[in-house]
Formats: sequence, C-alpha cells, structure tokens
Amino acid sequence: MSVWTSVFELLAESSGAKLGSAAVCMASAAMLARQATQRGTACRLLAGMAEREIALSKAAITDSVTGLKNRMAFSRELEALLEDRSRSEIAVLFLDLDRFKEVNDTHGHKVGDELLKGVARRLCDLMPEGATLARIGGDEFAAIVRTDPAKPLDNLAIAIVEAIYEPFTIEGHAVHVGASVGIAKGMRPSSSADDLLRQADIAMYDAKFSKTDSFRIFDERMSKMIALRSSMRAELEQAIANDELSLKFQPLVDSQTGALASVEALLRWPGSSQGEISPGDLIPLAEESGQILALGNWVLDKALDAIRTLGNVPVAVNVSPVQFRHHGFGSTVGDKLLSAGITPDLLRIEITEGVLISHIDAARSSIRQLRQIGVEVVLDDFGTGYSSLSYLQNLDLDGMKIDRSFMKDLGRRPLATQIMRSVIELGHSLGLKVVAEGVENDWQVRLLRTLRCDYLQGYYLGTPMSLEEIVRFRESGEARAKVTRAFGGEPQLGLRASA
Ligand code: C2E
Ligand code: MG
Ligand code: MG
Repeated sequence: MSVWTSVFELLAESSGAKLGSAAVCMASAAMLARQATQRGTACRLLAGMAEREIALSKAAITDSVTGLKNRMAFSRELEALLEDRSRSEIAVLFLDLDRFKEVNDTHGHKVGDELLKGVARRLCDLMPEGATLARIGGDEFAAIVRTDPAKPLDNLAIAIVEAIYEPFTIEGHAVHVGASVGIAKGMRPSSSADDLLRQADIAMYDAKFSKTDSFRIFDERMSKMIALRSSMRAELEQAIANDELSLKFQPLVDSQTGALASVEALLRWPGSSQGEISPGDLIPLAEESGQILALGNWVLDKALDAIRTLGNVPVAVNVSPVQFRHHGFGSTVGDKLLSAGITPDLLRIEITEGVLISHIDAARSSIRQLRQIGVEVVLDDFGTGYSSLSYLQNLDLDGMKIDRSFMKDLGRRPLATQIMRSVIELGHSLGLKVVAEGVENDWQVRLLRTLRCDYLQGYYLGTPMSLEEIVRFRESGEARAKVTRAFGGEPQLGLRASA
C-alpha cells in the first residue's frame, strides 16, 4: 500500500467515509481531496497529492504516446467482458503496422510517435459504439468490439486497412505505412482473454505473410498450423525421406494456339498429421524450421524426373527466396541438370519479388548464373509486391507472370482491362514473355489473347494434375479446343456484356 493510500484512509476516517480497499480509496480520492481543501492548508497539500495519485493511476492504464488504453487496461477489460454473460458476443481485432520500423529508421522517433498518434486517431474514428481501443505494443493496436450479424467484421477490417493505407503527413513528410489485421471471435465461456488475444495475433501474422490479404479471421486451419509447427520438423523430415510429398503439374498454354507450352510444378503434402497442407502454408513453415533447402532440393529432383517423363515439355519450379538467395543455388541446379542429363531449356525457375526486395545482390547473382547455364528465370505473382518496376528494369529476367488478383475485375471494370493491357505492354517492352495466372473462364481467354498476353494458366484451361494426367491432357488437345472455342469472336475491350 502506498503512502498516499494511507493518507487517503486517514482522510476518509476523518470525513466519516468507510473505504474497503485501496482501489475504492483511489476512486474516491477526488471527492475526498475536495473535502480536504476546505479544511485548510494541510489539506490542500493532501488534495494535490490525491490528484497526483489519480494522475499516476491513470498513467498506469494509459499509453503515454497515443492516450489510448495500454495493454494492461485492455486485458483487464477483455477479462471482465468475457466473464459478463449478459453481454453480446465479442471479438478482438489485432492490428500491426507494416513498415513502422522503416519510418522510425528513416525519419526518427519523433515522426514515429506522431504516426502512432495519427493511426490512433484514424482508428478511433472507425471504432463502432462501445468498442475499446488500445495500443498494446510498439506498433500494435487492439480493439474489443461487439459482434453484430448486421455489421460483418470484414467490413470494419477492410475500412481499417484502407484508412491506414492513406498516407500520413507528418512534419512535411508523406509517410506511408500499411496494416495487417487479425480477428478472433470470443466464445463465452470457453475463451479466455489470453486465448482470444493470442488467436487474433496468430490471425494477424497469417494476414501479414499472406500474399493477398491484409486481414484474416482466426480459424481452425490456423490452429492446425500451430499444432503442425511443433511436430513439423520431424514429420516433414520423414515425409521427404519416405517420398510422402508429391508434385502436381498445372499447364500453361499458348494463348494463340492453345498448345501446351509448359507446366508448373506445385507441391502437395496430403498426409501430414493435420491433413492436407497447402504449399502456401507449408513453405513458410519450412522456411521457419530451416528445412526449406531440403524441401526445395526434393522438389527440384522430382521436377527433373517429370521432365524425363514428359520429354519436350518444360517444367517450372517455384523457388523460395531463402533457397534462391542461398549461395551456390545456380551451381546446384547446374549440377543436377548435368547428372540427370537434361537440357537446361527444359527447366524454368519461378521467383517472387520477396527475394528481390530483401537480397537483391544474391538474387542478381543467382539469376545470372542460371541464365548462363541456360535456365530461364521468371518473375511470379507480378503486381503483388510494391517495387516491381525498378526490379524488372534492372534484372535480366525471361518472363513474368501476372498475379491472378489482376484477373478478378477483368471484363467487369474498364480500368481493370486498361491495367492488364498496360502490364502486358510493360512486360513486352522489357523483352519478357508474359503469362496471365488465374484464368477461369472463356471470356478472359478471349480478352487476354486480344491483349497479346503470350501464355495463359488457370483452372479454365487446366487445374493442377498428376504427371499421368498431364500426359493425357497433352494428347487430348483439350486446351487447344477451349482456346479455339473461346475465340469465337472479338471481345469488347471494356465491360463484359454478361458480367
Ligand atoms: P503460384 O506459384 O503463383 O502458383 C499458382 C497457384 O495458383 C497454385 O496454388 C494454383 O493451384 C493456383 N491456381 C492456378 N490456377 C488458378 C485459378 O484459375 N484460380 C485460382 N483461384 N487459383 C489458381 P497452390 O498450388 O496452392 O500454390 C500456392 C503457392 O505456393 C504457389 O503460387 C507458389 O508460390 C507456392 N508453391 C507451390 N509449390 C511450391 C514449391 O514447390 N516450392 C515453393 N517454394 N513454393 C511453392
Ligand atoms: Mg509459380
Ligand atoms: Mg503465381
């Protein structure tokens, strides 16, 4: 008990008030302090102390930079709400700023603090009635909101991500950051405050590492990933050794003729203890556990086996940034091709912008080595990063694949078509072959062909399939028929009539 609390208790006694606990004592301090001022100078002194005590206790639950609640206050409130069964269901939103460290490093901590205040203001404006908002770490914010079926949390998360994406003007600088948001819904009485915050944090990480989403809602798949993470190392080691992993192959077809131009090898792990794990989940886990090199080598070996079976169809292999920047990646590929007796033009390597952004020199050296051997290097998922143009200009690449997110509004919004046209032209002006990913209907085939996109890949033309199925697919002429059929007439380069 602090000395101030004892003073309040003395005061309380002299004023006849009965105070049960130090907390109640502090809450009543303002009133007591007012009474004290009427009793003379000594009491005025005590009143000052009381106010300071109030300020101190407020400081203990307030974030000094933004004025929001701090982590401790947030957790207490969450616990109280979860215990209160009369209330409606609640959800926790966890937000982490993207690129906050860069802002601090580039502009200094003062600008960093102003940015946090600006973020807090924008978040406050968006919070629904009755929500609690707090800053719970360096660049981490959290909110408790009541769930309301009429107001999906997705909308709130999207509004938050969009609001933070708008640049902040601080001391004359335009400061750009982003936000990743995770959401966990409270299931009383089973959820504890800690569980809920942890789940929202996990969902936020999932969003941060996703190539496509800025927010995620916690689900069972994420629990599966956490369960797998602990047993991952041993399980994956065994799976590689026992050949329990497999590759599927998705066709890329020539947009003019519909002929099978190449296939992309896509990793599958059907039999993990957590069921089928998608490569989008598996690769980050393998990077984290340090097994990505072993896994990458397994994929390369299997892809070379596939090339042997397919004869003259090139096979593209996705390579993780960790693997690609690894010293000697180019020579590993060269040695493998040599010992397999395969000509280098039958292998393609797909890399993502991640590798270019984080380790440009190592990436440049791997690209040079591979191209010297005669292996083509293609930039995958073009348009999902944020510095694509400069990299495209400065690197000797053979092709680029336009991310499937560009396909979404194609034919629905004229601007989407214009963007697609510009991206294809950009690729061609740099001497690159251009592939469109995620082609899902005949209309897109028509439009992309008119826009002179070189190759097409997507479920409409062929889903990922086994090697035997690819052999049959090639012989069937299925894609050729689809491309010919799709090109029944010239598409309108604007709004899709049937959209
Ligand atoms: P990616 O390289 O961009 O591969 C294309 C992904 O899009 C595949 O997902 C494919 O199944 C999916 N896809 C293809 N056509 C369509 C379509 O028309 N619509 C939609 N909605 N999706 C389509 P998948 O197999 O789940 O792979 C996801 C990502 O995981 C890949 O994206 C690639 O980045 C990575 N990946 C896959 N295999 C490997 C691997 O062996 N090594 C590494 N490092 N990464 C891999
Ligand atoms: Mg790929
Ligand atoms: Mg891709």
